[in-house]
Amino acid sequence: MSYVVGPTDRVDTGMSGGDMAKPLLGHQNTEGDPGARPAAGRTIGVLGSGDFARSLAIRLVCSGFKVVVGSRNPKRKAGLFPSAAEVTFQAEAVKKTDVIFVAVFREHYSTLCDLADALAGKILVDVSNNTEINHHKESNAEYLASLFPACTVVKGFNVVSAWTLQSGARDGNKQVLICSNNQEAKRIVAEIAQVMGFTPVDMGCMSSACEIENIPLRLLPAWKIPIFLALGLFLCFFTYNLIRQVIHPYIREQKNKLYKIPIEVVNTTLPCVSYVMLSLVYLPGVLAACSQLYYGTKYRRFPDWLDQWLQHRKQIGLLSFFCAALHAVYSLCLPMRRSHRYQLIEMAAKQSTLGFIALVISTLHTLTYGWSRAFDENQYKFYLPPTYTLTLLVPCTVILAKVIFSFPCIQQRLLRIRRGWEKGRYVKFVLPSATGEYSSGETSSNV
Ligand code: NAP
Repeated sequence: MSYVVGPTDRVDTGMSGGDMAKPLLGHQNTEGDPGARPAAGRTIGVLGSGDFARSLAIRLVCSGFKVVVGSRNPKRKAGLFPSAAEVTFQAEAVKKTDVIFVAVFREHYSTLCDLADALAGKILVDVSNNTEINHHKESNAEYLASLFPACTVVKGFNVVSAWTLQSGARDGNKQVLICSNNQEAKRIVAEIAQVMGFTPVDMGCMSSACEIENIPLRLLPAWKIPIFLALGLFLCFFTYNLIRQVIHPYIREQKNKLYKIPIEVVNTTLPCVSYVMLSLVYLPGVLAACSQLYYGTKYRRFPDWLDQWLQHRKQIGLLSFFCAALHAVYSLCLPMRRSHRYQLIEMAAKQSTLGFIALVISTLHTLTYGWSRAFDENQYKFYLPPTYTLTLLVPCTVILAKVIFSFPCIQQRLLRIRRGWEKGRYVKFVLPSATGEYSSGETSSNV
């Protein structure tokens, strides 16, 4: 028995009809392949009527699918779903479709065992997440597969939140990681994800399910390395400044300067971290350019460590900006600091294109601030040079490399490599004509 409730009884989905009511991608062309069915237009089943099931149903309906929701209490839950979705008992729902999203928690999977016969031969999509990393010996998807051996289980959609499903893929994570031991089932689920506006990512066979289930539990994975880097640099510079500003005066002159630790030592450390991190945003680009110039091609993989470094530049830059902002706040606490200098750096760092200008300004600032100190013997505590002098090392290397790369002979070669030119190879080139059309031809890359 189905409960089809009138539109006025249904909840507002919060989506404008014009935009979301249309399929996000056109229907797949399946002409000439009688076995294939277009993804959109297919009837999709959803078991469960919670937050995820509701968002999923809304999204599926908006993407052009017919949706049948299986609930233990359809009468009560029907009003929560869009009018186009049919809300019925679980047993009824599974009869009407061969692709079923299991939107219930792992601990309730066993309560679905009564449906085993009706589910035989169907595709079950496991969307579940865990509360802890590697919580169970086997992944939820593998557990589901063991309960329903006659079904084909596909793991997917767990990295997408109910909120992302409702608000549209454009406003959230677009990737849907999918894995299964059955290629055809995986293809069908990937096609559904694509029609819904997501980017399916094939993660291989079912043994990847555990990894996929752990992803939402890993807190900001892209930030881990940059945060450790920032903390490591902070610790190094803090210790260095502590030795120079507190320990040295105590040992040499028996002066207690512990009061300097919370403000002055921290405030000398923050710009050093910010400054070095800002140069670390540009250093991998310089190394990459060196590698490309050396090998004369852009089609050679960078070493893994450089690849990782390049991928984390945004986070490193943002952390650098955060340290600079903290430095500005600290400097406002110190009346003798002229904070407008730091504000200028902050403004520049707001835009990624202006990031390099920020690096140059910071270098000029550090040079002017630290120039006289660099040649003052008294500034060398325990033979340690002033922090300002020390921090100049990496940024100056980066700026120098950038200047060298801007020489026309090197710049031209680098530009050509980045457009596909290779040392000692013939390459096909495409040139825009005066009319804006493109003409192609072949040339020796060594010309
Ligand atoms: P929820 O709001 O608590 O909904 C769970 C649904 O399971 C209930 O509405 C219930 O629907 C159904 N159910 C079936 N058998 C049940 C039983 N024996 N006891 C209790 N409920 C039973 O949870 P949810 O947030 O929608 O999450 C559902 C699944 O999606 C979970 O595995 C979760 O890890 C996954 N997920 C959720 C999100 C999210 O953002 N919420 C994101 C990714 C993945 P009926 O009462 O109609 O049967």
